[in-house]
Amino acid sequence: MADTTKILNCPACGKEMTKIFMASEGVNLDVCLDGCGGILFDNRELKKFDEQSENIDELKQAMQGKNFEKTDENQIRICPVCGANMVKNSVSVKGDVIIDECYSCGAKFFDHGELTKMREEYPTEEDRRQALLTETYNEIGAKIDDLELKNNMNLAKRSKFLKAMDKLFYKDVS
Ligand SMILES: [Zn+2]
Ligand SMILES: [Zn+2]
Repeated sequence: MADTTKILNCPACGKEMTKIFMASEGVNLDVCLDGCGGILFDNRELKKFDEQSENIDELKQAMQGKNFEKTDENQIRICPVCGANMVKNSVSVKGDVIIDECYSCGAKFFDHGELTKMREEYPTEEDRRQALLTETYNEIGAKIDDLELKNNMNLAKRSKFLKAMDKLFYKDVS
C-alpha cells in the first residue's frame, strides 16, 4: 500500500513524492511537495485524516508557503502504487470534490486543496455518510412520489370507468 518506504511518483505531475510522517497516527503520507501538492492515501490512511478534528498539522506545515504547480484534473491518472488506471469519484454531496481512486489497491489521490475542502464540508465521516445517504434517499423519494402520482391517476381513470360500467348495468346508480 501507500504506506511503504518506496518512493512514489505523483500520479498528477510525475514528480517524486515526499514521505511525511504523521506522528499522531504513526503513518507516512505521500505528498507531492516539489510538484503539484497532491496527497496519496491508502484506504486505511484516509480514514485517519478525513475528519475536521483529526490532526493534519505535519501536512499543513510541510505544505505551508509553497507554490504548487497546476495540473489537469480531468486527465486519467495511473495509480503509482499498483499501475492501474484511477477512477474519478466524488467525495462530496455537492459533487465539487472529485478525487482519483484506484479500485485495484484502494489508493486515493487528492489534488492540492481537495482534502481541506472535503474536511470543511462535513465535520465527521458519519456526517458525510449521512449527507450522501440523504441525497440518495431524496433522489429515490422523488421517483417514488412520481410513481404514486401516476398510480393515483390510473386509479382515478379506473373509477371513472367503473362508474360508467355501473351506469350501463345498474339503472338506479347516479
Ligand atoms: Zn504532483
Ligand atoms: Zn493502485
